[in-house]
Amino acid sequence: MFNSNAFAYSLAALLLGLSVRTSIAQTAAPPAPDHPKVTVRGTTYTPRSILARNMGTSEDQTTQFQPHRIISNLYYVGTRTLSSFLIVTTQGNILIDTTYERNVPTIQKSVEQLGFKFSDIKIVLGNHAHGDHQEGDALVKQLTGAQVMAMSEDVPALQAIKPGGKDHPIDKILHDNESVSLGGTTLVAHLTAGHTRGCTTWTMKAQDSGKTYDVVINCSLRPPTMLTPANIDEFNRSFKLVKSLPCDIPLGDHPAQYNMEAKYSRLRNGGSNPFIDAANCKREAEIQEAMFHAIIAEQKQKPAQP
Ligand SMILES: [Zn+2]
Repeated sequence: MFNSNAFAYSLAALLLGLSVRTSIAQTAAPPAPDHPKVTVRGTTYTPRSILARNMGTSEDQTTQFQPHRIISNLYYVGTRTLSSFLIVTTQGNILIDTTYERNVPTIQKSVEQLGFKFSDIKIVLGNHAHGDHQEGDALVKQLTGAQVMAMSEDVPALQAIKPGGKDHPIDKILHDNESVSLGGTTLVAHLTAGHTRGCTTWTMKAQDSGKTYDVVINCSLRPPTMLTPANIDEFNRSFKLVKSLPCDIPLGDHPAQYNMEAKYSRLRNGGSNPFIDAANCKREAEIQEAMFHAIIAEQKQKPAQP
């Protein structure tokens, strides 16, 4: 027999579930706008499509991507859409980007699958002070005792990232053009502000088969939906600087910025190293610079609209 009470309860539960889901959606950040549109190297982008390309689904953000060697002593240990790089030296290792705190066990697993010890991480560096790149710093420091180093302009924003109320560790404050060296590898911190005040592009040299390559781990250059005059100055300086850096191997804080998946499948097929890709070194900067100018143009038009 049909039980009307049970039906009413399930309906109520269903509606409650829906309203909970709606309120979660409402408290989350509003979706990026689907305008302006820019076309760079034959592909059209909007702020929304760039964000979707960068972040993927929440599952993509937390699912391990097959850890792999990029070149020489530089390895990928991140998830499908959040980059994390490991630099291995004889004096211990450097980790760039701990990503979300919940990803730290995944990063640890990737480091170990490559045959390295997580506890050998001596230095933690970051791309920029947003949770999807540096929320895990405190946990990685807790697990490894590593020194966390950060660009001075990003320090206030990093101090505001406190998962579970933990203080964000900062053991050394870096400045534009400062070097970080360990076991014969030197990384240079370039201030490329705009996306955050202390957004940091990291460069290093990698040796392979008797040749030296310039590696550029780009900071995000994704502009916000509203640009202030100070922010515009920061981006203008950063675009110019990034495009002037010597580069053979472009990398970024989200792997889609350098077509990691396609390159990784080519890597498995053998042949020349697909990560050596000087032709695409400036591609991401071109996309973001085009979007930056389109946003400024749209902003200028706004007062004229009714
Ligand atoms: Zn960001």
